[in-house]
Amino acid sequence: MLIKNGLLVKLDSATNGDLRILDGKIAEIGENLIPASGEEVFDAKGSLVTPGFVDIHTHGGYASDFMDCTKGAFEKALTFHLDNGTTSVVVTSCTAPKPQIINFLEFSKEYMKSGQGVGAQVVGVHLEGPYLSVKNRGAQKLEELAVPSCDDYSYMFDYADIIKTVTISPELDGAEQMTKALTERGIMVSGGHDDGIYPKFMPAIENGLRHVTHLYCATSELRFEDGVRNVGFREYALIDDRLTVELIADNKHIPPELARMIIRAKGVDKVCVVSDCLSCAGIPVDGTIYKLGTGDNAQLVVVNDGVATLAETGRYAGSITCVRKMVKNLIDAGIPLCDAVKAGTINPAKVIGEDARVGSLEVGKDANICVLNANFELEKVFLNGLEK
Ligand SMILES: [Zn+2]
Repeated sequence: MLIKNGLLVKLDSATNGDLRILDGKIAEIGENLIPASGEEVFDAKGSLVTPGFVDIHTHGGYASDFMDCTKGAFEKALTFHLDNGTTSVVVTSCTAPKPQIINFLEFSKEYMKSGQGVGAQVVGVHLEGPYLSVKNRGAQKLEELAVPSCDDYSYMFDYADIIKTVTISPELDGAEQMTKALTERGIMVSGGHDDGIYPKFMPAIENGLRHVTHLYCATSELRFEDGVRNVGFREYALIDDRLTVELIADNKHIPPELARMIIRAKGVDKVCVVSDCLSCAGIPVDGTIYKLGTGDNAQLVVVNDGVATLAETGRYAGSITCVRKMVKNLIDAGIPLCDAVKAGTINPAKVIGEDARVGSLEVGKDANICVLNANFELEKVFLNGLEK
């Protein structure tokens, strides 16, 4: 397959050119490439050609939650993402009883092993909780929260091959030891849903915490306590170059001005757009009640005005926006095209250690490719070189 006449969005420039796909990989990038005999040609007619998007924090889509743990649910949610140009997905749990989390890990492992089905490719798992603060638990269930020092989290070690990230609240008792144990096993520890002030989260960072779960959403902030004013995790995350951060850039959780501020502070290489999509993504009808999680443990959320809120409290519960649209939001906010695309592709790929394989238009990488019109709408998506 030869994609001709695209505006190829590379890491540092967008240039007109052609791209050849061979055996599921990007085989050649150049100008005026000549089709081989019998080679299929797709004329992009000047449309944008970007890497497939990489979503490292999402709960579902098309009425399916990954915690449902069925092939049908996975395929539906993954189809929502692929329909929107996301080719790599890190499936994300919500805080739930331990057997349910283990079931989710077991199912995800089997799904990844079995060669996967339709929709985007699952590249790993993110556990969001249960070691989260009570105050900033967000849409996570209070009864299921736990503290690392009082709980056995060693089951996670058995799934180190598939777990990419674990979100914990870094000021909790035992978070330091847990961070060390997970980091030693190659699992990225991400801070979030926290209630810490400086320097309570520093031991976890010194022991390997390197990522921040949806910065500015359920993260601690500047506080006056015991006569002393100290920064929270959200301010500190902006100034520590060891930390990468997630942005729910749906213009609701993160308004455009805040996105600009965060990107200016962190630099364009350390910001990852994440959908944090709920099951209602792709089918939202204002006023309808949907669920986050599965079974009796599910939280009820209601969709209104392009965002999901907790039915009980009205707090933001998660987004219904895919990564592609979030990248478009960044572009509309004034972030340069290549930088905005990086935030939805190579930056998250680096966080989960998949950047040698996906996340940019480079020869040798998987041919996960989007063709987008000038409004950033999806015209075509290729997954492992196959047109979807
Ligand atoms: Zn989430």
